[in-house]
Amino acid sequence: MEIIARLIEEREFIHLRAATRHRELRCLVPARPASTRTCPACKGTTRMMLANGHWVYCPMCNTRGWVPAA
Ligand SMILES: [Zn+2]
Repeated sequence: MEIIARLIEEREFIHLRAATRHRELRCLVPARPASTRTCPACKGTTRMMLANGHWVYCPMCNTRGWVPAA
């Protein structure tokens, strides 16, 4: 079951990144539910800055920019 959850996360990541580059793919991105909050790790930017000046895609929200409220 864990492998399935990981595959779903990876698919979502690919959809989110593709939709960022190609607006016509935004239909692949689920709408943000009202019961969510802005990701505290990336503050909704989808990226986290590292101390060395580089950045990584936010692993906490999988680059959605939001996380479940609970
Ligand atoms: Zn985030």
